[in-house]
Amino acid sequence: MAHALKIPPGGKAASRVAARYPFFATPYSLELAAECPGFAKQVFPDPRELSDAGSMPADPFGETGLAAAAVPGLKQRYPDRVLVMAAAGCAMRCRHCTRKGMLGTAQTMSSPESIAKAVAWIEKHPRVRDVLVSGGDPLVLPDAAVARLHDAFASLRQIESVRICTRAPCTLPMRITPALVRILARSKKTWVNTHFNCAGELTPDAVRACGMLVDAGIPVSCQTVLLKGVNDTPAKMLALLRALQRARVRPYYVFLCDPVAGVSHLRVPADKARALEKTVAESIGGLALPRFVADIPGARRKTPVSELESVCGPRAF
Ligand code: SF4
Repeated sequence: MAHALKIPPGGKAASRVAARYPFFATPYSLELAAECPGFAKQVFPDPRELSDAGSMPADPFGETGLAAAAVPGLKQRYPDRVLVMAAAGCAMRCRHCTRKGMLGTAQTMSSPESIAKAVAWIEKHPRVRDVLVSGGDPLVLPDAAVARLHDAFASLRQIESVRICTRAPCTLPMRITPALVRILARSKKTWVNTHFNCAGELTPDAVRACGMLVDAGIPVSCQTVLLKGVNDTPAKMLALLRALQRARVRPYYVFLCDPVAGVSHLRVPADKARALEKTVAESIGGLALPRFVADIPGARRKTPVSELESVCGPRAF
């Protein structure tokens, strides 16, 4: 990605953090961060990222050990879904990323040989009906590689949906081009799961990118991460949800920030999340109302914040 910035502003303190958790941002992200304080918190290294070293896991879901047998880049946590690690990188390194300690190191799959192995594996597992193409961000790949991945999985009769998990509509909206949209729309099986965290991220460019996908018949939903100082008040969360609805993006989940090393300073306690969910539910229609959940290691589904204490006990989150 040309002209991306890899050395963070902020002098030695920021560079020390970036040596542990790399910094990477495109000119678009930097311009947006200059205008949107909530987005800036997701872009720039913070010295507090180093304060929980040793007390929090780097890989809370054991993803590095989840590889489906003999297929590098293919992972399975649930019986009916598989995750394809399509690319190691992203258009931006989000400071709250669950994979922040592992980004760039995962085994990925985009070569014809590795995709063929994944297809063969899926065909031997007929319960799989949903493929999540993630990474990293699959839309950092060129169109030809995106097409190869999309077509290989969408053409399988057992596969009912191919989910493209990408933050590009937010962090690099110019990546959503007419040619890319044509590739994604041709199977009629594609869903795009994207990631916006505050209303300021819904710029005219971002709204245009989401609109192009929706106009082509691709459902777009948003997975938000609940972040301290970004979207943890009713006013900020409602502004985000209303902006998403105006952009025709369905708010899907609001995730509690995962218990991963380097993000403690951004995490919001579960009781505050529960209160926020209640206020939001009383203030907005169901179409724009996401589910507030946590991803609990070992759980068979996303856990509603209202059930967290009974699932994990009072200490967790
Ligand atoms: S785009 Fe997603 S995977 Fe990439 S750094 Fe941000 S949160 Fe992590």
